[in-house]
Amino acid sequence: MNFDDDFKMLIGGELGAGTATFDVINPANAKAFAKAPDASKSDLDSAVSAARRAFPSWSATPIAERKAKLVELSNAIMAQADGLKRLLTREQGKPHGDAEFEIMGAAMWLQGAAALDLPVTINEDSDERYSETRHVPLGVVGAIAPWNFPMLLAMFKLGPALLAGNAVVLKPSPFTPLTTLKFGEIASQILPAGVLNIISGGDALGPWMTAHPGFDKISFTGSTQTGRRVMASAAPTLKRVTLELGGNDPAIVMPDVDVEKVAEQLFWAAFQNNGQICIATKRMYVHKDVYEPLKEALVAYARTVKIGDGAEQGTQIGPINNLTQYERVLGLIQDAKDKGYTFLLGGEKSDVPGYFVPVTIIDNPPEDSRIVQEEQFGPVLPLIKFDDIDDVIAKANATEYGLGGSVWGNDDDRAFEIAQRIASGTVWVNETQHLSPMAAFGGMKQSGVGVEGGVEGLLEYTNAQTLVRKKRPLTA
Ligand code: NAD
Repeated sequence: MNFDDDFKMLIGGELGAGTATFDVINPANAKAFAKAPDASKSDLDSAVSAARRAFPSWSATPIAERKAKLVELSNAIMAQADGLKRLLTREQGKPHGDAEFEIMGAAMWLQGAAALDLPVTINEDSDERYSETRHVPLGVVGAIAPWNFPMLLAMFKLGPALLAGNAVVLKPSPFTPLTTLKFGEIASQILPAGVLNIISGGDALGPWMTAHPGFDKISFTGSTQTGRRVMASAAPTLKRVTLELGGNDPAIVMPDVDVEKVAEQLFWAAFQNNGQICIATKRMYVHKDVYEPLKEALVAYARTVKIGDGAEQGTQIGPINNLTQYERVLGLIQDAKDKGYTFLLGGEKSDVPGYFVPVTIIDNPPEDSRIVQEEQFGPVLPLIKFDDIDDVIAKANATEYGLGGSVWGNDDDRAFEIAQRIASGTVWVNETQHLSPMAAFGGMKQSGVGVEGGVEGLLEYTNAQTLVRKKRPLTA
């Protein structure tokens, strides 16, 4: 397969270039390196129509066959992992190792979805009547993905949506459309025409999708701000929505941690994927008894980490994915400088081409500072000293977000108790960011609506239908 050019959309089983294109930029050098199709409104209409046509037979296909198709797709992704990974690095910026992890994760997520089943609940089975609730597909799902994990987060949606019997129109982010388009080429060999359509485009395409009457559901992953728009736009036609949105995850580091053991893990909790993870640790609350040694250990470890072009051997952290996000992160750094906060590391602007921001750690900024209150989504971590556990839990929860969080301590029963007091969709103890296709994942408060993963996530691609049958009397 050619991964260098010839990027095409998949509409109704056909691969096509569309009539217009837009540039895709390599964030490691800020240069355009490929062109992606820029879908028109009529391309969107064609994709929706194709999905609507494919829906009746796909939804009537036995679930075992749909599962087999997901497994086939998963295997085909693995077979092309090398090319997909290299392309992902070029458009997203992440190091090859991380890109490979994402591609293999995407394949694994499809396998995981294929292992789920749609439950049937028997509500009553009496002499008088039989009643069951089953789950039927919704119809056509619009899936909208962000740029931080374009392939993995697309599969969070595709696996369960297709398994449940829906047809899908998938739209990657304009910053990272290419790997998803090549996946479309792979999928065109496996799925019946129209079951999966992939269209790429600029800023107008997402709003066209959410307003389009041909969708029964929008499954969206992106920022909280955009999530609000998606929900508003879906309202006139009462589309179902699943919204996986932003986070400002706290980590609470207890006084009994073994600093040397956790420092490296805590570093990656915040800086994996250059901090561009919805469930990255975005505020690190450290007990005053271990604040100084942990601070030193984090800084010492950070100095060993290699930042650079993700395509270069040994790179551990790549550039920020796009100019908008790069400028946003620089703005947060500037604000911290203007306020006179202490930088333990980083903060300086890089003069190499590309959207590089050095690993930046800020020493105990005030609770109401922008870097503590806002989602940075980049390599800037506020370390905050705490003394009182009730107070720190209150601070951890005093935000509109509620996506993830973690508690770190040698007394893991105590840490587990504290975890239960954090108002987030997922809370980890002594690890972070572990997700599974078998477990529900979603945000509380303004971090989201609904969940992905597990049976709970699968059911979001269905309508519950209750069937009631009156039993005829044995004698007339
Ligand atoms: P974004 O909201 O800017 O864009 C996400 C997607 O929505 C893109 O495909 C974009 O083209 C599209 N879009 C933009 N405006 C739209 C509109 N008005 N209507 C419909 N679609 C529209 O988000 P991003 O910058 O790509 O991603 C970063 C954000 O995503 C962060 O806030 C991060 O926390 C969040 N995120 C959440 C999760 C999660 O699972 N909760 C996972 C990853 C990222």
